[in-house]
Amino acid sequence: MASRMSVSWRLAARTIAAPARCSTSASAPRAVLRQQSQRRLYSSEPPRSSSGGSSKIKFWPFLGVIALGTAGYVALVNRRKDMPPAVGAPTPAAGQLPAPAKSTPTFSPDDVTVIFVLGGPGAGKGTQCANLVSKHGFTHLSAGDLLRAEQERPGSQFGDLIRDYIKNGLIVPMEVTVQLLENAMTDALAKGGSSKGRFLIDGFPRKMDQAHKFEEAVCPAKLVLFYDCPEDVMEKRLLERGKTSGRSDDNAESIRKRFRTFIETSMPVVDYYEKEGKVIKVDATAAPDKVFANTEKRLTERLGTKY
Ligand code: UDP
Ligand code: MG
Repeated sequence: MASRMSVSWRLAARTIAAPARCSTSASAPRAVLRQQSQRRLYSSEPPRSSSGGSSKIKFWPFLGVIALGTAGYVALVNRRKDMPPAVGAPTPAAGQLPAPAKSTPTFSPDDVTVIFVLGGPGAGKGTQCANLVSKHGFTHLSAGDLLRAEQERPGSQFGDLIRDYIKNGLIVPMEVTVQLLENAMTDALAKGGSSKGRFLIDGFPRKMDQAHKFEEAVCPAKLVLFYDCPEDVMEKRLLERGKTSGRSDDNAESIRKRFRTFIETSMPVVDYYEKEGKVIKVDATAAPDKVFANTEKRLTERLGTKY
């Protein structure tokens, strides 16, 4: 796991860094500087000698432009050699699991069923997932739990980063979460000794980039279970949970930030899947057993009695 993560994080870090290095905003000042230095050659260089004639004065500036251009091009080519493959390109990682930076999903939806479980913080995703696991035999993967486990894993290079993001209710860079999920899915399938599996992916995707990345690199999703709950109810539940959860983000300030992230960043994901006709919306205000009964009913309507 450590080496897998280290490969993917190096990739992630460089992927994040890459656009800045080749963006127009980064290259524009360089281009301006180049133009300025070219202009200086024209405007301030005095003729070396009067006997040189005008053809000599015109020749050197052109040579300078060509030299600068060539040097710039070579530098650009060399920089690109160091860049990671673009997102979606295959990642060679000998002897390790491939990082999910590719265009073919690792798992086929014929073998692997993925149901995303979404809802605001405190909507009851974890509780309902536990019920679905015990009654219907899904494998439950909580993105938040995987991130917290990675944060605590001795030697993890993501520990501090994850801690920071979670405390502030922000979304951890997707490469980390997508890789953790893919690893967990691979492990679960290996443990079950089968290429077939049914997964509830809880609390993910919380941002559009995660959704696209996961579906493109790991596995297309079949459905989204969306637990709909008013903020005041969720807040009450989270503050109650905070008394014993030991979670760094179950406090009033973090909760406020999480709600904001949920509305601004995560709801667009639900809206996107809604348009795709993949969302099952369940009212999550009632007591857990009522919500579960409703969940089963809605899943049966969509998938039949065997799911
Ligand atoms: N998180 C993240 N990416 C994800 C899922 C979770 O960055 O895909 C982080 C985020 O900071 C979130 C925190 O993990 O606020 C807790 O997530 P969890 O799903 O455990 O919270 P819940 O919704 O269950 O309250
Ligand atoms: Mg949860």
